[in-house]
Amino acid sequence: MPSASPLIDAHGRAIRYLRISVTDRCDLRCRYCMAETMQFLPRERLMSLDEIATIAECFIARGVHKIRLSGGEPLMRGDTVALAERLGTRLARGLDELTMTTNATRLARHAGALAAAGIRRINVSLDSLDPDTFRHITRTGDLDRVLDGIAAARDAGIAIKINMVALKGLNEHEIAPMLDWCVEQGFDLSLIETMPLGAIDEDRTDRFLPLPQVFEALSARFALVRDGFRTAGPARYWRVGDSGTRLGLISPLTANFCDGCNRVRLTTEGLLYLCLGRDEHVDLRAALRNGGPAAVDAAIETAMTRKPARHDFRIAPGAAPAVARHMSVTGG
Ligand code: SAM
Ligand code: SF4
Repeated sequence: MPSASPLIDAHGRAIRYLRISVTDRCDLRCRYCMAETMQFLPRERLMSLDEIATIAECFIARGVHKIRLSGGEPLMRGDTVALAERLGTRLARGLDELTMTTNATRLARHAGALAAAGIRRINVSLDSLDPDTFRHITRTGDLDRVLDGIAAARDAGIAIKINMVALKGLNEHEIAPMLDWCVEQGFDLSLIETMPLGAIDEDRTDRFLPLPQVFEALSARFALVRDGFRTAGPARYWRVGDSGTRLGLISPLTANFCDGCNRVRLTTEGLLYLCLGRDEHVDLRAALRNGGPAAVDAAIETAMTRKPARHDFRIAPGAAPAVARHMSVTGG
């Protein structure tokens, strides 16, 4: 049986947060995330709901107190709500928070059930409030559908954080209006630097927008007060005036955040990646199939010795991605 000692990696960091990519599939094709002709895994390679839940249980037994369901688009998978319901039974019994990152295209249908499962906060990707720009960035997306999904989640009592990838020449002029909109709606906003993960159809250098530059421009328009709030994650936060909105900056390229990293990531194939920007991993599905939860626990223990100290992201003209894996595989 899994032992109860907490997970500490070789660099002394306590691992308390698991992200699960429940599927690598997506109904959108965001330009910075994947190529238009992205190849997805055959369905038979995806773990079953039961396998994912069993592995998650092993992490909870070792002190992981936060789980985020992600992808790909997590709501593309028919049993993701059932998985949320199952993991939700562990809230206040080992798990402090269950959350999700979604593109919201299917959120209108599922928001009520997700709230009932115990999801209190979600991150929604929204890179533009202009229907044409939104369609251009996502290649296929319908903005109204996403806004309906967001409204349904809000009406279901779920707190919303908007994730916006800052893209030079694409949505940079929309960042301040997006913050206005978030203040008006009572949402938080996290801005994200584009990261060199997986091949796409363009050179990411062309779209890379350093967030310190964005922050300077926003500071001229908004009263931004540094917020003491910190997760062990990559974001730094500011309060926007006296609104309830929190602005987060996720700037892995311009500000390294690895010292306090508390997370690991499970792919839909059962590979546990120890760092978003590195290749070290262990195969937890193989462990589960060969030796059950005890073998998973032993594999997680091994993984702790392999977690790299830091990523090595670089954005330079013509540079290869840091890893061949896309964010949709590892779970953003
Ligand atoms: N499909 C869901 C969504 O878009 O919210 C969840 C998965 S997506 C991979 C998670 C987050 O990663 C999104 O906020 C997306 O904008 C971000 N993302 C994807 N590829 C990225 C990249 N190369 N650099 C920075 N952020 C990226
Ligand atoms: Fe899909 Fe999310 Fe990637 Fe966009 S960012 S293509 S919504 S996985």
